[in-house]
Amino acid sequence: MMRFERKKMVAGNWKMNGNADLVKQFMLEINAPENVDVIVCPPFVYLAQFDSQPFALGAQNMSEHEKGAHTGDISAHMLKELGAEFVILGHSERRQDHNESNELVAQKVKHALINGLKPILCVGEPLDVRENGDVFAYVQKQIDAVVSLCSEDFFDKAVIAYEPIWAIGTGKTASPSQAQEVHQFIRQHLAKTNEKAQRLQILYGGSVNADNAKQLFAQDDIDGGLIGGASLKVDDFNVICQAAS
Ligand code: PEP
Repeated sequence: MMRFERKKMVAGNWKMNGNADLVKQFMLEINAPENVDVIVCPPFVYLAQFDSQPFALGAQNMSEHEKGAHTGDISAHMLKELGAEFVILGHSERRQDHNESNELVAQKVKHALINGLKPILCVGEPLDVRENGDVFAYVQKQIDAVVSLCSEDFFDKAVIAYEPIWAIGTGKTASPSQAQEVHQFIRQHLAKTNEKAQRLQILYGGSVNADNAKQLFAQDDIDGGLIGGASLKVDDFNVICQAAS
């Protein structure tokens, strides 16, 4: 199979953390290598406070509706007005805390694509699924729900983040080979229906830090990372971006 060169990507997910000072620090101190797509995803309210930065902005969630009576939600159009180019969808914390189903995540991804936002689709298994040896089937179901609803646009614009739930915020990282095995599975599965899967950026997320990033990013099918905790420290985030370059 032909091997495509894919640009590395590092996306920071601040989750419900950060403040106006961190926004200023990021604008001044992040060194984004030219050969890496760097994205920072702060809480909604901070998006508009970024005004000159050497990286793209992303949101952490988005409504599947265009507008209307959806109190507390935020639309794709609003996110774009705030400067967001990307949106994280289907993060395991939203699947858990807000009961987001595969079907709802699929609707959100479709809506993001139609409205010109690039979705970062998060997938990944809980520990019991891994222990039962069902990782591939679990992840495939999450991905198929989305791909079956989306057009070709998915392969042109979307990014996938494989984030095993047992590795998120726990300090337990998947080993490079454990992560590579799932990334390769995802790519080969998608390539059966669309050869553009060879170009799709597939990020690893789950306790990536300044010490383990390089080894993870060196794997054939790992095109960078979605970084939670370590994306809140400018120095660590800079080292992680450098590890991808
Ligand atoms: C995440 O929130 O997507 C994540 C991977 O978190 P952490 O890096 O803290 O495990």
